[in-house]
Amino acid sequence: MYEVLIIGAGPAGMTAAIYAARAGYKTAILEHGVPGGQAATTDMIENYPGFPEGISGPELMMKFFEQTQTFGVEMIYEQVQSVELTGDIKRVTTDKQTLEAKTVVIASGAKPRTLGVANEGRLRGRGVSYCATCDGFFFKDQPVAVVGGGDTAVEEAMYLTKMCSSVTLIHRRDELRANKLAQSRAFANDKLHIIYDTVVDEIVGDEKVTQLKLRNKKTDATSTLDVNGVFIFVGYLPNDAFLPPELEVNEQGYIITDEEMATNIPGVFAVGDVRQKKLRQVTTAVGDGGAVMHGIEEYLRA
Ligand code: NAP
Repeated sequence: MYEVLIIGAGPAGMTAAIYAARAGYKTAILEHGVPGGQAATTDMIENYPGFPEGISGPELMMKFFEQTQTFGVEMIYEQVQSVELTGDIKRVTTDKQTLEAKTVVIASGAKPRTLGVANEGRLRGRGVSYCATCDGFFFKDQPVAVVGGGDTAVEEAMYLTKMCSSVTLIHRRDELRANKLAQSRAFANDKLHIIYDTVVDEIVGDEKVTQLKLRNKKTDATSTLDVNGVFIFVGYLPNDAFLPPELEVNEQGYIITDEEMATNIPGVFAVGDVRQKKLRQVTTAVGDGGAVMHGIEEYLRA
């Protein structure tokens, strides 16, 4: 019987685990991949305090992971299939076993949204990608496109200019959503071209991506762009496949919590990108992971 069972080893889950284990609770994290979550796929993190020169996502997440091990957090590398959360004893079933816990912290994060255009699924891994740091190297000295206008799209497009011959950023509106610093860096980068007011209608290619069919939203004019890769960064959706219907979520599926990260089910908490919040960053994930401890302690004491 775990006192604190955490689902997901991203920055929020690992922070919650460090706090819980350090407070003396029997704590485990369930993770189906490698620790670090989406932060581990980020090339450079410049806004996590304590690293004035910036730090790579994988390196920062490795430090988080090492800290969980310092305090004896148990890591269980299994995929969660379903959960029973309403009783005093919570049950979490993975592909291998059923675990029991007094409290459960859902820290399953979010996954990239897809565009939903023709051939996107079929060409995934064959030119369609959702992770520049994972796949950018495959497009060394080749032309690629990035879709989206937020922080992720602009920052990942900048990263891709280091290795690709050219990067075309395709955004659906006439101004970027990304922060001003990222924008000014993007505008100053000769290898980055930005196309505004434009959407991708179709991704073209037999075995691999060869072209994008584009449409200007204001004029309806269509055009094509020859690229070997297209990186899609149009926001995220919560990883909610295993969540039960009795857990309260908002219209996009993000879990609703109070300030102590408590959900509507007693003894069940949610932290990080999977919960409803305004800003999804490593700093706010860490804040959630720390804040949840107060609610867990109160619940276990009661
Ligand atoms: P985001 O801020 O939600 O931006 C998504 C972008 O994709 C928007 O520009 C949106 O266009 C566009 N988009 C959405 N659906 C689309 C569609 N169907 N077709 C074409 N374009 C579409 O997502 P994000 O950039 O991944 O960022 C997520 C969160 O992480 C944000 O809070 C962000 O600030 C944060 N983040 C921060 C940093 C940093 O601080 N360094 C780095 C990365 C991410 P519109 O603009 O027209 O809506």
